[in-house]
Amino acid sequence: MAGFTVAIVGRPNVGKSTLFNRLLEQRKAIVDDVSGVTRDRQYGVADWNGKTFNVIDTGGFVSKSDDVFEREIRKQAKVAIEEANAIVFMCDVSTGITDLDSDVADLLRRTSKPVYLVVNKVDNPQRQLEATEFYSLGFEHVHFISSMSGSGTGELLDDLVANITEDMGDATAETDVPKIAIIGQPNVGKSSLLNALIGQERNIVSDIAGTTRDTIHTRYNMYQKDFLLIDTAGIRRKAKVQEDLEFYSVIRAIKAVDEADVVMLLLDAEKGVTGQDLSIFSLAARKGKGVVVLVNKWDVMDKGTNTARDYEKELKKRLAPFSDVPVIFTSVIEKQRIFKAIEVALEVYDNRTRKIQTSKLNEIMLKAIEAYHPPVVRGTPIRIKYVTQLPTHTPAFAFFCNLPDDVKTPYRNYLENQIRTNFNFTGVPVKIFFRKK
Ligand code: GDP
Ligand code: GDP
Repeated sequence: MAGFTVAIVGRPNVGKSTLFNRLLEQRKAIVDDVSGVTRDRQYGVADWNGKTFNVIDTGGFVSKSDDVFEREIRKQAKVAIEEANAIVFMCDVSTGITDLDSDVADLLRRTSKPVYLVVNKVDNPQRQLEATEFYSLGFEHVHFISSMSGSGTGELLDDLVANITEDMGDATAETDVPKIAIIGQPNVGKSSLLNALIGQERNIVSDIAGTTRDTIHTRYNMYQKDFLLIDTAGIRRKAKVQEDLEFYSVIRAIKAVDEADVVMLLLDAEKGVTGQDLSIFSLAARKGKGVVVLVNKWDVMDKGTNTARDYEKELKKRLAPFSDVPVIFTSVIEKQRIFKAIEVALEVYDNRTRKIQTSKLNEIMLKAIEAYHPPVVRGTPIRIKYVTQLPTHTPAFAFFCNLPDDVKTPYRNYLENQIRTNFNFTGVPVKIFFRKK
């Protein structure tokens, strides 16, 4: 079981994206920071009382033109029923129950998955009274909220996270075999890559393309290493729902990220990195997954002497601040560097599990801190006495100091940089915490 995914469905203008932003509130700055994406985000990770889950705003996938929107909203609802773990069905008290609301409600009542009817814009007591009309839609879980002010959203979150059990948190704990997810926009070459690997590699242990699986897992044995490839490419072809539905492929990609240890993000060399790529990249980083970027179709590029170097430099600017990521220029068609890509992904896997000895860590890091001190705060110097790697799944370090709340981002970045320079965490997000000594 992968991470928990909540889809928000409903008519335009009921307040889906307002709620979405509120659910992601604490994370917003971080996500935006990592991705550098300013356009509307469609999905992200919400945190509530230590539980995290994916949130998808299906509104982001609906085309803006009026004549198609009714059909599209029904479609989104169907995909949400099929793909999400829970559905937030949002209505608007100020318009009352519309025909489309009733329609979508009919669809949603048929699923056994938890559906939360959320009546939004309940900003005052008068609207509280009006909202009672929505009980007639016949849902068990009903919430009256104001996304704008946040009233009622805490209770909604309580209800949502009640569905999340501990073992859903990290699907990667399932087995010790490295899991590599192949992710990328349509047509970047995901299936070709998979075929190339399968074609040359005859030691496929098993093909677990089960009907209950959301993603296709194929187990390989190469370079004396055993690993699972998580494939999102074949899915489109098997999809029961509308073939080209962007929402469909995005939700599958999110699940694949959840299931993976390392995300292999394929880009089209000519098209470069897209907003959607950056969203997946920051999602993976946020979830502590390893990342390798493949710039595929490199064969079609006109190559001067510095092309790859310049390309990589520009690309890493877009990926900043998490830019200590391997970039590999591949041609699946010409079978260039595709095994290299697997090798590097497995190195990233190793980096992600790396544990640095405390004595070694302190020896190096205290020297780095000595060489460049944290700034003085209100006349008091910040003193970092000790650092230790936490026993977490993905690399995390705690620095013990006198004023943990006063260490700011630039110094945090300096420490991360020093860790990366001295130890190999390439392709792996590194978390840094400051604690009272
Ligand atoms: P979406 O199309 O469903 O994503 O809706 P939006 O989130 O874009 O919201 C549509 C409009 O409703 C915007 O003008 C919001 O400011 C407004 N809105 C959202 N939530 C509330 C609320 O709780 N109360 C009121 N009064 N307005 C809201
Ligand atoms: P997917 O949608 O990501 O699974 O992409 P496909 O594997 O179906 O590939 C889409 C198209 O790109 C196909 O026509 C492939 O032959 C082509 N393609 C894939 N890899 C490469 C490559 O490295 N170079 C070139 N020139 N074409 C490629």
